[in-house]
Amino acid sequence: MAAASSAPVLVVTEIFRSLQGESSFAGLPCTFVRLTGCALRCVWCDSAYAFSGGSTRTLEDVLAEVARLGAPLVELTGGEPLEQEGFYPLAAALCDSGYAVLVETGGHVPLDRVDPRVIKIVDIKCPGSGMESRNDLENLKFLGSRDEIKFVVADRQDFEWAEAFVEKHALDEGHVVLISPVFEGRESPIAAPVAEWVRDSKRRLRLNLQIHKLLWGDVPGK
Ligand code: SF4
Repeated sequence: MAAASSAPVLVVTEIFRSLQGESSFAGLPCTFVRLTGCALRCVWCDSAYAFSGGSTRTLEDVLAEVARLGAPLVELTGGEPLEQEGFYPLAAALCDSGYAVLVETGGHVPLDRVDPRVIKIVDIKCPGSGMESRNDLENLKFLGSRDEIKFVVADRQDFEWAEAFVEKHALDEGHVVLISPVFEGRESPIAAPVAEWVRDSKRRLRLNLQIHKLLWGDVPGK
């Protein structure tokens, strides 16, 4: 009988080429690999379609699709990409192949095993997400200077919570800190007030509009 294969496999919701929509990389052509599954349930989650389903694909298959799409920037997202063991060999293989690699993570999975060549965009969950208790503060130890922190804010209370968190952990002294107003489809009713709060803050914050939402709304694959 043949031995069972230990080759990495991934459960993938979608792979597509679009524009990077948030972070300091916003506007750049980017290939997205959206891995399936997430243990959290943020109330404003815009990728609930990635909670389940997906298709099982080999590492080689995913790498070939990324190569076919051709963008030099690749983002691994979800769902929560770090919940899949196959994330780690995939990230390393993409880096070995010369891609600039980003990972978007909800911040509840330890970051200590992420390849140091990967740029981490790490959520800190504000109270309005309903997931504040899942923030893993140990992860702050694993942030490198190129890594970015993102707070999705639903209201003024979230913004003040984020500001206080940034100040307490001096996050704006070593990282890009993104303040991302919640979107509802192509609209963000709170974007204008959040822009003014960021403008007037004593912390070094960056307004983070999700440009893919402005362009295309909540369409999967965009
Ligand atoms: S961590 Fe991300 S994918 Fe998971 S529920 Fe929150 S927003 Fe959705």
